[in-house]
Amino acid sequence: MAEHYVRQPRSVMLVLHDVAPQTWEDYRPFVEAVDALGDIPITWLVVPDFHKHDRVDAAPAFQRLMHSRLARGDELVLHGYFHCDDSPAPRTPQAFFMRRIYTWEGEFYTLDQRQALQRLEAGIEVFRHNDWPLHGFVAPAWLMSEGTRQALRQLPLDYTSDAQHLYRLPDFHAIDAPGIVWSARSAVRRGLSKIISDHREAHLHNAATIRLGLHPVDMRHEFSRRYWLQTLTRLLENGREPVTKFTWLQHQPLIRSAA
Ligand SMILES: [Zn+2]
Repeated sequence: MAEHYVRQPRSVMLVLHDVAPQTWEDYRPFVEAVDALGDIPITWLVVPDFHKHDRVDAAPAFQRLMHSRLARGDELVLHGYFHCDDSPAPRTPQAFFMRRIYTWEGEFYTLDQRQALQRLEAGIEVFRHNDWPLHGFVAPAWLMSEGTRQALRQLPLDYTSDAQHLYRLPDFHAIDAPGIVWSARSAVRRGLSKIISDHREAHLHNAATIRLGLHPVDMRHEFSRRYWLQTLTRLLENGREPVTKFTWLQHQPLIRSAA
């Protein structure tokens, strides 16, 4: 059977990770520069209590900021609850690698279904009482346990994502959404990130969409901050339309598997 596609313009999604009251200061100059470019919707991955000492609910100025961003057409996404991995210490070499060397931020990597459900519901509640619409959840470091996946199937959410896909919920139908992300902690990593990202952007030239995934640490170095602003500008000049993740998802064809 022939698939019928409505041709969508190519797009770019600007996604800010680890958004919390204390990281807003990192992002502020960058966001002001993006706002100055025109009407560019941003997707903000918000952490309700970043590292257990930065509660959104204790930060009225931040809440007002998020409201004003929503009014501009931006999207807020739930990004973990504490963001850090606070489960009991890893006991196997594989778990040690994933949870201490690869990242300390895999909050949803070890949770069972009950724990994941509890934490997701607590996050959803923060959005609810702030009157923030919520469609998506992104696990910190994109690490999801099977329990987390089961919990997500039970909740009123539209999608989750990893580094290269969006997944419709509750069925986890995968949609390609390639991304560029930096590891900006050291000068060597920033240098490498630039080389890899330039290569990746060329490779993605014809991709339907490109997700730009920014982190607060990227904003603390002129080299990486400039890279992101120039890349965004270049992609827009190449005719890509800036969209939020949920807006983009809503424009993807619903393909049902022929089961
Ligand atoms: Zn994160």
